[in-house]
Amino acid sequence: MKPVLTFFFDALKPESLQYMPFLNSFAHKRRMKSEFGHSVTCHPSMYSGVHPDKHLQWFVWKYDPVGTPFKWARVFKYLGLLDNLGSRYFLHKYTRQFREKNTAWFGVPLLVNLPLKYWSYFNVVEDRAWDEVGYLKEYPTVFDVLRGYNVEFEIVGMTKGAGSEFTQIGGHEFTEIRPWTYFFLGSIDSYSHHHRQDGPETIDRMRRLDQLVAAKYEAYSRRVSDFDVFVFSDHGHIPAEKRVDIHKVFRQHGQSLRRFIHLIESNYARFWFRNDKERATVEAILETLGEGFILTDEHFQRYHLEMPDNRYGDLIFYLDVPYLFTKTIWGFSRKQKSMHGYLPDYPDSDGVFLSRRALVEGPHVELVDVLPTLLDSLGLPIPDYVDGRVLWQEKASLYG
Ligand SMILES: [Zn+2]
Repeated sequence: MKPVLTFFFDALKPESLQYMPFLNSFAHKRRMKSEFGHSVTCHPSMYSGVHPDKHLQWFVWKYDPVGTPFKWARVFKYLGLLDNLGSRYFLHKYTRQFREKNTAWFGVPLLVNLPLKYWSYFNVVEDRAWDEVGYLKEYPTVFDVLRGYNVEFEIVGMTKGAGSEFTQIGGHEFTEIRPWTYFFLGSIDSYSHHHRQDGPETIDRMRRLDQLVAAKYEAYSRRVSDFDVFVFSDHGHIPAEKRVDIHKVFRQHGQSLRRFIHLIESNYARFWFRNDKERATVEAILETLGEGFILTDEHFQRYHLEMPDNRYGDLIFYLDVPYLFTKTIWGFSRKQKSMHGYLPDYPDSDGVFLSRRALVEGPHVELVDVLPTLLDSLGLPIPDYVDGRVLWQEKASLYG
């Protein structure tokens, strides 16, 4: 089995490779078409080889009044006066102490700007980390597949709280070479949120990470003579310096957002309706909001987002570039200079795929191609259900 070395960058744009001479030296480069969503959408696609309409993970939160960890919050339907930011922080912490066995990247996050009376409608989608057994309920991840074949792999850099790439990856030594070595570099995303991807702080970080990756590549090459190597990222980054206060928009129409079951994230507003009147009211207000649009069946089809039920919303409003909502479930968007999760059609939404081995023709590859490409390198069969393809050029004939 020829070993494989991969480097993953969270949120690296093709345009940024100019600051990364080592990565830029890879002979074969493609733009990575992202999924229409955030990390919680992208990671399952790249680890499972199927799109969201199969792996069913689109947002961090879903409507799930049965499985919610916040059943205790139902009392706040009658105790509205006690609901403020302070009590939300306190009760969230309290819930985590006895409920949280959640080992996912996001865990059970605080719903900052959501009235407590609505917390008990919602549950997190991820209950464990990407590489843990059974991360996805419907499909095996690449980690599950390799475990099934008893193929060993090593993941470096994905441990939360274990330090930056320079600590985790920089400190890694190749004592024993496993069939697959996976280096995970997560910081470009947060740098880009705070400074934009083209900001000097981020560019400096990219230069240093490029040197780190070059050093690891050299060290690996000294140990292994024949191996496949590829580098990929999940999405790009788009400057977003304008804001929309959706609470204000509702007030301007004589309504209060708090009357509706909703979740507001950086560039999505999702609603669940108790009756047709609620739907009509919300639709009428959102249709006046020219900064975005309500997603239709056509969008769900085009971006592989059709879901079996209303877990992600009876209505999903998408806020377009360069806008962000203020007062979201994550906070107040004050420090966000740049965002992702916009339409994958924007070139700025693209990530990268880089290889030393020739790739199939075409400007784009997809996140779902990562799993079949890796399995093929390891000499393992590609499961029939996989939506992606093997990206090595000599395998192009497989797909006509
Ligand atoms: Zn991000």
